[in-house]
Amino acid sequence: MKCLRPHPWIQLRQITLCFVGWCLASAICTAQGPNFVVIFCDDLGYGDLSCFGHPSIETPELDRMAQEGLRWLQFYSAAPVCTPSRAALMTGRLPLRSGMCSNKRRVLFPNSKGGLPASEVTLAEMLRDAGYRTGCVGKWHLGHLPEYLPTHHGFDSYFGIPYSNDMDRLAEAPRGMTSIFEPKSAYFNVPLMRDAQVVERPADQPSLTQRYTQEAIEFIKSSDEKPFFLYLAHSMPHVPLFRSEDFVGHSRRGLYGDVIEEIDWSVGQILETLRSTGKAQNTLVVFTSDNGPWLSQRHHGGSAGLLREGKGTTWEGGMREPTLMWWPGTIAGSQATSALGSTMDLMRTFAGLAEAELPDDRPLDSYDLEPVLRGESHGTRDRLFYYRAYELMAVRLGPWKLHYQEQGSYGTEPRKLTKCETPKLYHLEHDPSERYNIAKQHPDVIERIQLAVEAHRSDLVAAETLLDH
Ligand code: MG
Repeated sequence: MKCLRPHPWIQLRQITLCFVGWCLASAICTAQGPNFVVIFCDDLGYGDLSCFGHPSIETPELDRMAQEGLRWLQFYSAAPVCTPSRAALMTGRLPLRSGMCSNKRRVLFPNSKGGLPASEVTLAEMLRDAGYRTGCVGKWHLGHLPEYLPTHHGFDSYFGIPYSNDMDRLAEAPRGMTSIFEPKSAYFNVPLMRDAQVVERPADQPSLTQRYTQEAIEFIKSSDEKPFFLYLAHSMPHVPLFRSEDFVGHSRRGLYGDVIEEIDWSVGQILETLRSTGKAQNTLVVFTSDNGPWLSQRHHGGSAGLLREGKGTTWEGGMREPTLMWWPGTIAGSQATSALGSTMDLMRTFAGLAEAELPDDRPLDSYDLEPVLRGESHGTRDRLFYYRAYELMAVRLGPWKLHYQEQGSYGTEPRKLTKCETPKLYHLEHDPSERYNIAKQHPDVIERIQLAVEAHRSDLVAAETLLDH
């Protein structure tokens, strides 16, 4: 009987054809959207960059990024402190929807048992599902236990510290503010991690900005097969302040200026890598911060410029961030926009650009900023809700901001949550420093804001806090 088995050469040809077909199918399925880089600072003030008016901190690389890109004058974080702000960036949702805020503890600590729940869909998960390579470098602060680390939230790789650089202070470190104002890495037993492994403890803090930068550059250089999402969350300028030898005495602003100028150098390195690898035209880079300057750290804290107050508060200085977006060939250079934007908007904006699927089973607090990036719109968002943990403190509608409650940051007045006897109204274009309450003159505006609050609350389900355990 004749054997029906094909000749080995024919078999080899069939296997080769199958392989080529599989490769073609993979290429077709691979995402074609732009790359995304989010550079996220920690406690950077609205007034801390020279392109945002600082008189003695020099940021030539960020100034160039602004010249080649878009400067956002009214871009906000979703919370005035680290953990809730980062949860909102990652999910496109107000932190009270995920339980990543607390009226008591405010942020996660090294003894916290909680973290960003697996049920949340992160930017990284959304983009990875759309075919992206995803990398996280720097401070995470959304849970340090294994199940909450970046590699469990959609990132292919992680290199950084899992919480703030002032945590895990050792008992033998100097007491009070000395260990902050005269810091040494050895005072803080902060781990440096690669993926889920601790690779150094305490982390050598003066070298962090440079090592994060190197890691980011290597990630970009090795991302040729797929589009990528890189989240580079600097540990600085959160206190204790550290910079490398190269930046000691670099700035006229002293230590704080040295730290910002090293971050500026880092941004220059990232953008230069994108240019030299031919990726610049296909990469959207966002530079912003998690919350405003930590003013109680005195000369170790930054400046919110003419904005009122800083970190920890829902005054403008606590949540309005110096923000730049850069995408050569798509974003026209030398532009400034007064459009409202929020870190939560990156979710919908990136989804649109990457043709990724947004979660459709939950409310998002995210607007698509693409029309603003392309210069086709002066703004897609008209409102902002300023929360301090679970408390709605203030609401912005167009140029108006209405405060319902007030509380100082860390030991500043009012020390306790204080309900305004009657809400206080400010016009942020006329009065960016929120000095002159004009509520009496504008009852119609207050009524419109009240309607916006009612609409906002109609689908608002607050999750139980995950920060108090
Ligand atoms: Mg912060």
